[in-house]
Amino acid sequence: MYEGFMAAGVAAGGQLTTTTDVENYPGFPKGISGPELMELMRDQSVHHGTTIHTETVTSVDLSQRPFRVIVSDGIDVYAHSLIIATGATAKTLSDKELKDSSVYWQRGISACAVCDGAAPVFRGKPVAVLGGGDSAIEEALFLTRYASRVHLLVRNPEKKLRASKVMQERLLANPKVKIEWCSMPIEVRGDGKLMNALVLKDTSHNHISSDDTNTRVLSVSGLFYAIGHVPNTAFLKLDSGEPQLDLDPSGYIKTIPGTSYTTVEGVFAAGDVQDKRYRQAVTAAGSGCMAALDCERWLESNGFSF
Ligand code: NDP
Repeated sequence: MYEGFMAAGVAAGGQLTTTTDVENYPGFPKGISGPELMELMRDQSVHHGTTIHTETVTSVDLSQRPFRVIVSDGIDVYAHSLIIATGATAKTLSDKELKDSSVYWQRGISACAVCDGAAPVFRGKPVAVLGGGDSAIEEALFLTRYASRVHLLVRNPEKKLRASKVMQERLLANPKVKIEWCSMPIEVRGDGKLMNALVLKDTSHNHISSDDTNTRVLSVSGLFYAIGHVPNTAFLKLDSGEPQLDLDPSGYIKTIPGTSYTTVEGVFAAGDVQDKRYRQAVTAAGSGCMAALDCERWLESNGFSF
């Protein structure tokens, strides 16, 4: 197993290593920290005989069999089958786009309300969600269970949400949510340990300059990014940019529904790299189990022993 070395800018173990408490993974009634959960999963794999390499796979050649896997340490590995579980990376803002966002990352700023929303720092406090898609609405509604008020920051100058109508209706029906139209955070404020406010810029057509007259301060204890994810599938693309197996328009690997089969025989996909809908540790782990079973059966039926 190649677990990556700071692949997509995240430590081996993936997105869960960047979260605090995971409250919805079965078997941990009091929750478990993301890094600890990943460490336990890693130990379990090693215990059952997996050899783990802390290297990143930079590209693959699926046109030949066995498949060629090119690893960042310059070693080529050949494999009859592959399970791709490279995940997705939540989009975040840089310090250039949102001043001091790196200072308050995981000190109020998160990219996963479901993972972090129940933390004591957000309970009974006002928080903000950035985005106007289905994810943003889902996160905002989830946060209403814990926060005193949820401010949805929507940058669209035409006051339009990208989310589906049914989700918009659910959002509008919730009295705890306030939509902050034409609002883009440009600075995070806090005491150095925890954030306590955002400076918002007015993005409406009437206010295109960025001087102080077009900004306001919103007191919030949290900011949750919900501005989309990028699936980690770049390594599957040829130099021409063409993917070697079918991806959907957002770049996620297409699998045959109800299975982990991709459009290339012998290549299986599991977890967030093929799932933009559920994105939970438990659903990813379940699809990993599906891929292991599919792969094992495929190898057996093709006469490979392992
Ligand atoms: P979307 O691409 O649909 O929406 C992203 C949102 O973030 C948009 O409102 C966009 O604004 C905003 N945004 C993007 N970049 C920035 C930025 N730099 N600063 C501020 N705002 C920004 O992503 P989602 O993750 O919401 O959804 C992805 C897909 O998954 C969709 O197809 C969605 O329908 C699906 N999904 C379905 C769910 C369900 O069915 N329950 C749940 C979650 C997702 P703008 O509009 O101005 O570009």
